Amino acid sequence: MLECDQAIFPPAAAVTARITEAPRPSRAEAEAAVCTLIRWAGDEPSREGLLATPARVVRAYEEWFSGYRLDPANLLSRTFDEVGGYDDLVMLRDIPLQSTCEHHMAAIRGVVHIAYLPNRRVVGISKLARLVEAFGRRLQIQERLTVEIADTLAHVLQPRGVAVIVQASHECLSSRGVRLHGVSMLTRRLLGEFAQEPQRREILVALSD
Ligand SMILES: [Zn+2]
Repeated sequence: MLECDQAIFPPAAAVTARITEAPRPSRAEAEAAVCTLIRWAGDEPSREGLLATPARVVRAYEEWFSGYRLDPANLLSRTFDEVGGYDDLVMLRDIPLQSTCEHHMAAIRGVVHIAYLPNRRVVGISKLARLVEAFGRRLQIQERLTVEIADTLAHVLQPRGVAVIVQASHECLSSRGVRLHGVSMLTRRLLGEFAQEPQRREILVALSD
């Protein structure tokens, strides 16, 4: 039985230990790197329109990659157990996703749907959106992002089931290479009761409506 539980709810370490220990470059070093990329693109960083660009890009990076400074498990640490016996589906749909593909550093944009079956405890719904932010605002691939969101929720909240569906478009697919427009990718992770029929079928219908 324990083995089964462990398979459903993997340890949080598996989903949070991905932050580099290397010393962080200085802001000036980061801005110099942007200048190099501007020159590589074929423009001149010293022309007027580009003078403030490296500083702006570095500030934008602070937002796009703010997830590295968030501890996803800690975001969910405050739970509520006065739920009046509520034990049915909790679902948050269409959570905006802003992420960056780790292969091309191009934008990933989409939505995340999260559902769980509470086991006497619930989290504040805004915390589910923050969880998406904590893992989304990093260099990612969509498959791992899906696993990280689901496994962290499962590990921290220990619900009876977790379902996460991510639907996103990848700029690296639309703006370069095969240049496929209007294509979106769907990934999902179903844990606990949601991995078993008939709940599996029901949750997939509910989440895709
Ligand atoms: Zn990519």
